Amino acid sequence: MENKKIIIAIDGYSSCGKSTFAKALAARLGYIFIDTGAMYRAVTLYAMREGIADRPQAVVDALPKIEIAFRFNPESGRSEVYLNGENVEREIRRIDVSNRVSTISSIPEVRVKLVALQQAMGEARGVVMDGRDIGTVVFPNAELKIFMTADPRVRAERRYKELLAKGEEVSLADIEKNVRERDRQDETRAVSPLRRAEDAVVLDNSHMTVEEQMEWVDGLLKKLL
Ligand code: C5P
Repeated sequence: MENKKIIIAIDGYSSCGKSTFAKALAARLGYIFIDTGAMYRAVTLYAMREGIADRPQAVVDALPKIEIAFRFNPESGRSEVYLNGENVEREIRRIDVSNRVSTISSIPEVRVKLVALQQAMGEARGVVMDGRDIGTVVFPNAELKIFMTADPRVRAERRYKELLAKGEEVSLADIEKNVRERDRQDETRAVSPLRRAEDAVVLDNSHMTVEEQMEWVDGLLKKLL
């Protein structure tokens, strides 16, 4: 399965385990994993720090000053996101960032900049990229497209456990509200709304373990690699 390098596009709703699945898949294939949500979150964090998150034009004007990159951290065994040279991997997962990211990511100029960066990162192929528009906009010709979904309540519970483990004080009800609200915003926004590419395969992992998901994807990969 190792010879042919392909692009694997993973799109879907928030908190349905896209990153976990994509990371496991990338590790299995020796591919690079790129979490595009982290890039939109980093731009959002920048805007919040500058106090311009409510002013789209100010965000657009600031874009040339925003540099986003991934660096591999051998300790955690994963790539972490850097904003102007600073590791912001933890900070971008905060709930106040989550609450604003849909607004920032609906600014067309933000998308143009990040999509170009993502396309450059995938040029050498051998990547698993997760996001909302990877199979539709970033890599419409990706060899494998997966659209992930899971029950909103199950997703909220997963996210809740993750945040609790990180020591964040949050309520399950707030998380579920955030999950549903982000679904709504991501699906209804005018620019690059979340939708399944026609040729994407649906994976509903509400009641699947990561191992079961790997078995499922192996079946697809056998035909492709
Ligand atoms: O994947 P994650 O939940 O971290 O993404 C955060 C937000 O970034 C999403 O809710 C969505 O608004 C935005 N996003 C996007 N396009 C992508 C990836 C993420 O608009 N390719």
